[in-house]
Amino acid sequence: VGVFENGSLTPLGEQLDAALKGQINKVLRHRDLSGKPGTTQLIYDAKGMHAARLMLVGLGEKKSLSPNRFGSALRTAFKQLNESGATDAVVLNPSDEKDAIYRYARATVDAASAAVYRFEQCKSEGKPPKRPLKKVGYLVASRRQLTPAQRALSHGEAIADGTRLAKDLANLPGNICTPSYLAQEAQALGRGKRKLSVSVLNEKQMERLGMGSLLSVSRGSRQPAKLIVMEYKGGKAGSKPVALVGKGLTFDAGGISIKPAAAMDEMKYDMCGGASVIGTIAACAAMELPLNVVGIVPSSENLPDGDANKPGDIVTSMSGQTIEILNTDAEGRLILCDALTYAERFEPAAVIDIATLTGACIVALGDQASGLMANDQKLADELLAAGTACGDRAWQLP
Ligand code: MN
Ligand code: ZN
Repeated sequence: VGVFENGSLTPLGEQLDAALKGQINKVLRHRDLSGKPGTTQLIYDAKGMHAARLMLVGLGEKKSLSPNRFGSALRTAFKQLNESGATDAVVLNPSDEKDAIYRYARATVDAASAAVYRFEQCKSEGKPPKRPLKKVGYLVASRRQLTPAQRALSHGEAIADGTRLAKDLANLPGNICTPSYLAQEAQALGRGKRKLSVSVLNEKQMERLGMGSLLSVSRGSRQPAKLIVMEYKGGKAGSKPVALVGKGLTFDAGGISIKPAAAMDEMKYDMCGGASVIGTIAACAAMELPLNVVGIVPSSENLPDGDANKPGDIVTSMSGQTIEILNTDAEGRLILCDALTYAERFEPAAVIDIATLTGACIVALGDQASGLMANDQKLADELLAAGTACGDRAWQLP
C-alpha cells in the first residue's frame, strides 16, 4: 500500500483503510513512516484482513509520482519481502489517473523481477532465501481496468524474461560465455518459434564475405568468432525491419595493447550490447510485437596471441575500406563495422548499435546514463524518451 510524504494514502489505499475501519491511518498518525521513496513499514494481523502482513511503502511526494518512482520504491519493498516470511504479495495500483494502469502495472513486474534476480548458476552451493517471494498480484479498482492491467502483466513478463536472459549472459564468465555459447543461446531462442529465425555465420563464411576487420580481432583468440543473426518477423511482409546491432566481445583483454590487471575480470561484460540485443529479440518474440526486427551480434574474444593484431597493422573491412589499428584495445569498432555493413542487406528502416564501446563514456557520464550518438535526431529523440520512460536513461553526446 503506497503512502505519500504528507502521510496520505493512494486512492485504493483509502478504500482498503475504510474497509479496515481506519487501522492504517491510525498507524500512520504515529509518523514512524516518512513516506520517502522506498521506506517501508509492516503492520501485522490487521483486524478484518486475511493477509498476515500489510506493508506500507513510501512513494515520495504525491505530485511527483511516476511509474519509475513507483518501480524503484517497489524494488526495495520486494527485496524486503523476499527476505521475510511472505511468499506472495498483492500490490495496490497507486494512481487513478486515466491510462496510468498499464504503466504502473508494467513497472511492478519490472521491479519484482529485478528485486528477486540472483545469478547463482556458477555457485557450487547456492543460498536462496528460505521463503522467497513467489507470486505477485496487482489490484485494480474496477473490472474495466483489468484489460490494460493484464496486458501490462504479459508485456512486463516478456520484458522481464528478456532482461533476465541478458543479465545471465552478462554475468557468465568468459570461459563459459564464449562466442560459440552466445550463438547456441541465440539459436535455442529461435527453436520452435515460427516468427523468429536464427542463423550463425562461422569464420569461413565471414571470410567469404570479406569481413577482414572482424576476423582480425578473432585471430588473437583460440575461440572462433561468430556472427549471430536473429530475424524476428512479426510485422507485415516487406515492411522494413529495425536492425539492432550489439557488440558481443565475450572477453576483452585489450589484445597486444593489453589492459591493466585491476578489474580486468569485468571485461567479461564487453558482450553486454550483444546480450541486450538477444534479450530484446526474445522479448519482441514473446510479446509477438507487430514489427520486423533483425538482431545482429558480432561475437569474438580480444586476446594477446602471437597471431593477434599489432598496433600499426592495417586490415580491410567488408566495406572495402582499410583501417590502421593504432590501439588493439579499440576492437569494438573493428567487429561492429563489418556487422553494420552486413546489416545493409536487410535494408533496415533504422539501425541501432549498442555497445560497451569505450570507457571514456563512463568518464564523461558516470555509470548511470548510456551515451547516445545519432545521425537522425527523430530516432535519437525516440530513444531518449524511451530511456526516460523506463528508467534506463541515455544522454545524447555531440
Ligand atoms: Mn577494448
Ligand atoms: Zn571492448
